Amino acid sequence: MGLLFAVLLTKVTFYFFFFFFIQIMTSLFEVYWKFLGLPLSLIKGTIVDVIPFCLTEIVLWIGLLSCVLLLLKHLPIFKKDSQRVHPTKTSLFRINTILLIVCGPVLLFVLISGQGAIPFGPQPTLNRKSLNKNWAPDSLSEKQFEQYVRWFEQKLHQEFNETDYLNLSEDLVLKNCNHTLDSLLVAYGLPKGRTLKRIKPLFGLTRLLGLSYGGPAFHDPLLSEVAMVRKSDLPTPNYWRLHAICHETAHAKGFTREMDTEILTQLALLTNQDKRLHLLGYILFLQKSGKSFSWPEFLEKERTQKALERRDTKKRQPFVRLLTHINKKLSIQNSGEKYGTRKKHDKWKSDHPFFTSVIKKLPCQPDSIFSASIEEQKEMP
Ligand SMILES: [Zn+2]
Repeated sequence: MGLLFAVLLTKVTFYFFFFFFIQIMTSLFEVYWKFLGLPLSLIKGTIVDVIPFCLTEIVLWIGLLSCVLLLLKHLPIFKKDSQRVHPTKTSLFRINTILLIVCGPVLLFVLISGQGAIPFGPQPTLNRKSLNKNWAPDSLSEKQFEQYVRWFEQKLHQEFNETDYLNLSEDLVLKNCNHTLDSLLVAYGLPKGRTLKRIKPLFGLTRLLGLSYGGPAFHDPLLSEVAMVRKSDLPTPNYWRLHAICHETAHAKGFTREMDTEILTQLALLTNQDKRLHLLGYILFLQKSGKSFSWPEFLEKERTQKALERRDTKKRQPFVRLLTHINKKLSIQNSGEKYGTRKKHDKWKSDHPFFTSVIKKLPCQPDSIFSASIEEQKEMP
């Protein structure tokens, strides 16, 4: 009985301090971000955007090689050899071990856990209060949600034209999303983030990990760097790459949680000053909705063609296939849930964090949409 009480007390104390710690970190975040996090992100961004290749790949290799050296140094057979060669340099060995620990396991832990793929990572931006909590989402009925889905479907068909869509280059989306995201942050009473200037092509191990995990683009909070898979490594419709660019730009503004990043991405596309980007916003919303909808003919053809190209490309990527298979077996594949994506048979949640937040912040609300005429609707959002 005494033991049970002690265990219970320990658990309650642990949860109390854990909750207290999270609260403190969250309230301190604003101060941290203003005086240290944001200036650091601006400095790091200015440097890494000039370098044309992916530095995260280099850091990953430094971490792995340091781990190997650390192991070699402390395996008895190698330890004896090194002491024979350097009998008087014990203090140097101690420094080297510390350096190897910092550049090996510590660096790898910070690098891997810092990507936002796991909760409670060491990166301070995870302590930012979630946008959907800040905005206290209203309840949204499935019927209202369905009306938005049909409205965006209608808008996609009305506004889609091949020329506009094909003119949406990666540079144009990067520039416009940077600008709109900053405007949104200011409107929400948050500081602007850094202006992302370069998205680097993935190569080596990060390419392999990205393709097999199912996150073939990333922002690394440690270096404030963004990298994305090459078109030739993963053929996708143009809108997929353009969504990814806006998403990574939102990460670079200081948002690590995928849900926050997707909410900002969706709003930046739907409210963009360049109306051609609204098409990308409609597609993103519809794809995440889990509802059936019809695609414009051109996009349907592009999707089919890219799916065939992707199948052929995968045949030429044996290591990616092997690693994907292992990741699936170990259940360490990326999932759409943390991005706010609904599956077809998901039960509707009236407090869905993605859809309630996005709809709350849209410049028009369900009543105004469905009481407005088609002519008026053309002006929204
Ligand atoms: Zn992301």
